[in-house]
Amino acid sequence: MAFLTDQHCHTDISLDSSAPYYDMVMAEYNAGVRWLCVTDHCDTVDWRTLRFHPGCRDVARRELEACRAVQDRLPADMRLRMGMELAELIFYPELAQELSGAPWLDFILGSCHLTKEYGDYHEQDYSSPAFCEELLDIYLRDLQRVADMDYFDVMAHIGYVRRYAIRQGTDADLTLKKHGDRIGTILKTIIQNGKGIELNCSGLRDGCGPFPSAEILKLYRSLGGEIVTLGSDAHRPRDAAKCLDAGQQILRDCGFRYLALFTKHKPEFIPI
Ligand SMILES: [Zn+2]
Ligand SMILES: [Zn+2]
Repeated sequence: MAFLTDQHCHTDISLDSSAPYYDMVMAEYNAGVRWLCVTDHCDTVDWRTLRFHPGCRDVARRELEACRAVQDRLPADMRLRMGMELAELIFYPELAQELSGAPWLDFILGSCHLTKEYGDYHEQDYSSPAFCEELLDIYLRDLQRVADMDYFDVMAHIGYVRRYAIRQGTDADLTLKKHGDRIGTILKTIIQNGKGIELNCSGLRDGCGPFPSAEILKLYRSLGGEIVTLGSDAHRPRDAAKCLDAGQQILRDCGFRYLALFTKHKPEFIPI
């Protein structure tokens, strides 16, 4: 493919990014991206209190305003799409349905970042193998619940919990040996419902590997999964488009021949 695509990045519309929208878009462009979907966090739950997060109601509108504001300054060959990373869909399903219905949105990533039982995966102590397994058990339960819903296009960063364990010198990896049946059921649900998965390249930047792992990507492909997107998950301009090349090669190695690019929730397939 002659150009890069990135369908997962953040700007200062997200609480955990301070990147001005235009700066992020141009950093992606300057790194070779010609198809970009900005996917700011739309968090329905406050990660500290586990209560409803009212700011989620403003994200789609802010995305529209930010996108419109840069239209006149975009290079002619940059295709910019509007998306969001809709998190914790299972806490408030009716709200998730409402938020995902903003008619200008092109693409919605469905994410799990929190557990109802223990809070944010980011905040956990991964030193106990038994507790790691319990967290993965909860994570898989919640991914299945998201897969059963209709309020997203692509499931984000399957297995990303591993990052936080690795930072603590341990591991919490989803493997087919231990979790194959449940992962298979989640992937089959996604395929049957016409949804897809992303290859999130953020773990390639910090040595945690792709999310999901190559064996899960291969399983998805072998089950007939065709809708796959690539995302850098950059929160800073300097991470824009990082490791998208490597991610693309992983997809090829796992048997994928096309990437899905979304406009108004409809995928168009381009060869890789
Ligand atoms: Zn995420
Ligand atoms: Zn993200």
